[in-house]
Amino acid sequence: MTRMFSRSPKNLIRPLVRELQPYVYGEQPKIKGLVKLNTNENPYPPSPKVLAAVKAAVDGRLRLYPNPTADRLREKLAKRHRCRPENLIVGNGSDELLALATRAFVEPMVAFVRTRQTLSRPTALSRAQPRQIVQYFTPSYSLYPVLADIHGAEKNAVPLKPDFSLPGVPELKNQRGKPPEGGTPNKWDFQAALTFITTPNAPSGHGYSTAELDQLCRAQSGVVVLDEAYVDFAGENALSLALKYPHVLVARTFSKAYSLCFQRVGYFVGHPELIGALHKIRDSYNVNGLGQIAAEATLGDPAYYRANFRKIIATREWLGRELTKLGFRVFPSQTNFMLVKPPLFPASAWLQKLRDRKILVRWFKPSEVKDYLRLTIGTPAEAAALVQAARELLFE
Ligand code: PMP
Repeated sequence: MTRMFSRSPKNLIRPLVRELQPYVYGEQPKIKGLVKLNTNENPYPPSPKVLAAVKAAVDGRLRLYPNPTADRLREKLAKRHRCRPENLIVGNGSDELLALATRAFVEPMVAFVRTRQTLSRPTALSRAQPRQIVQYFTPSYSLYPVLADIHGAEKNAVPLKPDFSLPGVPELKNQRGKPPEGGTPNKWDFQAALTFITTPNAPSGHGYSTAELDQLCRAQSGVVVLDEAYVDFAGENALSLALKYPHVLVARTFSKAYSLCFQRVGYFVGHPELIGALHKIRDSYNVNGLGQIAAEATLGDPAYYRANFRKIIATREWLGRELTKLGFRVFPSQTNFMLVKPPLFPASAWLQKLRDRKILVRWFKPSEVKDYLRLTIGTPAEAAALVQAARELLFE
């Protein structure tokens, strides 16, 4: 008699994956006339030169594989950042590279995890070692904990200061940390295998100086990824740290400042040895051909993008002033979005009321920023529509 066995799909999935809380994407609804201010997309299209380059590349050559190492793009990026192509890896968006960094630099806790309980409550025996830790501040990019969970790594989430500024190294050293009651203490770990720092911060928009990042990097012995997804809207960037220290990587993306979300192109800058490790584990053709062409053409038109940054920053400052007048608490921003605490109604109600008026913003449900809204900076007309809607909701 053949032994019966269960082919229930659920049982075929690794317990870790079954229990996983996935990343929550910003919505991408296709509603006509929607003012979409929820996913930090750039309101301006790519440069006409980029559109022309992509269109010119759409022909029979689509049957061929793209360059596996994005050589031309890496050469152009190397010129721009005054480094060597060996200092660079290009990814299918910077998200891919953040995931690769987790896989390359962090040891998973256990190969086989049975239950939700063991997933979230490491026992004394399985207490995490620094080499198993993915560390980050909260709030910051909500993908980092998901990457740690996917990898079966331990998370160490340490709060930023109440105004979202970065605790200094002495403060981090003096932290007492919460008792490890059923979880990891949130004491900063200077040996953590991998530390992600969103700079400028998301979702607060708070900018960090290169000097304070330098101090923190110097104090860490594991890999530090400075995630500069929004840095083109900031006063300072910390790229020099990736070329100065062997354990620091800077992450950049063409998505936000360069209006290329659709094409999925991001890159890391850092020591050839770390970059080489990431190359080893990436997919062979991880960056699609049209994406490479679009990114190369982007680098050929810096003046177009500089003008866009100026427009977005001017709109950001205008929007901040107008919302402050209406009683919003507005956090200063160095990005293409701003975090605000709305007056009169809870943030979740504002989300719905604005949505009813075809304006979509972002609210992070169960989080330390649940009382706030994150507003992407759109065109001046979109910002004006938002201010007008807020005025009507408050005074009508
Ligand atoms: N880092 C941060 C802080 C982000 O907000 C995002 C976009 N959600 C990314 C990285 C990833 O960007 P992409 O994959 O489009 O390059």
